[in-house]
Amino acid sequence: MYVILLGLPGAGKGTQAAHLSRAMGLAHITTGELFRENIRLGTALGKKAQPYVEKGLLVPDEITIDMLLDRISQPDCGQGWILDGFPRNLEQARVLDGALAQHSKAIDRVAYIKVRTEELVRRLAGRWSCPRCGAPYHESSHPPKVAGVCDNCGAELYQREDDRPEVVRTRLEVNLSQLEPLLGYYHQRGKLAEVDGEGDVETIGGELTAALSS
Ligand code: AMP
Repeated sequence: MYVILLGLPGAGKGTQAAHLSRAMGLAHITTGELFRENIRLGTALGKKAQPYVEKGLLVPDEITIDMLLDRISQPDCGQGWILDGFPRNLEQARVLDGALAQHSKAIDRVAYIKVRTEELVRRLAGRWSCPRCGAPYHESSHPPKVAGVCDNCGAELYQREDDRPEVVRTRLEVNLSQLEPLLGYYHQRGKLAEVDGEGDVETIGGELTAALSS
């Protein structure tokens, strides 16, 4: 099964995609995390992406699309995947559809997790992440059991550079302008389901599961 989760930064895509990928046996692919990992490791890809990621701007399509197509060709994607953070614009959506069509495959379902902008700014400002396993936390709504330490793997949590308020605003503006056309693209193709992203994590997860199987 091939699934896309759409939503602005902070909408909960990462949390929900992690649950869904475990429940459905799908690979969980996060382009933001792939970039951060390459930046940490100092790879050639990381060096190209870093100036964009730091400013909250989209990494150019030629870099992002090649990285994504390479990732979905890996052996762990045999049962399908769930994409979190890709596509971010129409060009990426079209190239992905074309690449799948070459193998007589297509996206099965796209779920949009909708959250108001004020709520997103609040969430991003209090967000902490695990550098090792990518688990997301929030100071007030989802704190780790031990402050500053990942519940899953024990690594020390960090706050993303691009979650600083001045970068958050740019990220939201950039992503919002690209989101509307993407929603239209998948709606026209009868693939889009919308889920309210402001309830508790379990309720949203249940709605997503229902939306993806409808
Ligand atoms: P995210 O963790 O999804 O907010 O992504 C962090 C950063 O990675 C973004 O602000 C972009 O700089 C970059 N990025 C992630 N996914 C994409 C994408 N599909 N296209 C372009 N840039 C991306």
